[in-house]
Amino acid sequence: MTCPLGARTRRYEGRSGTTVQRALHLHPPHLNSQNAAMKFCSECGNKVVQRVPPGDHLPRFVCDACGTIHYQNPKIVVGCVPEHEGRILLCKRAIEPRLGFWTVPAGFMENGETLQQGAARECHEEAMARVEIGSLLSLVTVIGAHQVHAFFRARLLEPTYGPGPESLEVKLVTPEEIPWKDIAFQSTVFTLQRYLEDRAAGRENHYFATLERGTPRPLAS
Ligand code: ZN
Repeated sequence: MTCPLGARTRRYEGRSGTTVQRALHLHPPHLNSQNAAMKFCSECGNKVVQRVPPGDHLPRFVCDACGTIHYQNPKIVVGCVPEHEGRILLCKRAIEPRLGFWTVPAGFMENGETLQQGAARECHEEAMARVEIGSLLSLVTVIGAHQVHAFFRARLLEPTYGPGPESLEVKLVTPEEIPWKDIAFQSTVFTLQRYLEDRAAGRENHYFATLERGTPRPLAS
């Protein structure tokens, strides 16, 4: 079966004026769920097997020794678009995936923090910059990566920044200077585009998107 993953998207305006973008050809959850392989139970150390538990509808890793069902659910990535005097703070990634490509500060949400706290923390870790987090900008479901990306608008509290351990370089760029071909993730491209459109229009909408995969498709050679 051929499967045109993420090749086409459709956009339409929601009733509230927010833009909705949906990937076509979504698969049922059981076809998408390439669960991370698990061999041993983290509760008791015995071997697990993969099967659909009674009353469930998806295969899970199940431990028959202690009865634990190991559910695997999407992770939340949180970030922000930090602005200072019309320019946007971008980070060049020092780690895989997408080492050497540019992104806005973002990373996995930690237990015990809010989305906004996570966005500010990631900005401090990756760009050594302190920000005030503003309105919600985008929520992007990345089906194939089992992730939900949440981005906020933000402003630098002072023009102080630099590369944290996960960044090679950090810089403020004008919209014209954004290296679109070298942006690491599709969710970042979507978010930056909506950000700039909103800023030009003097509004702060929030946007939803569904992507099949996190990284842009390689260009056909
Ligand atoms: Zn167990």
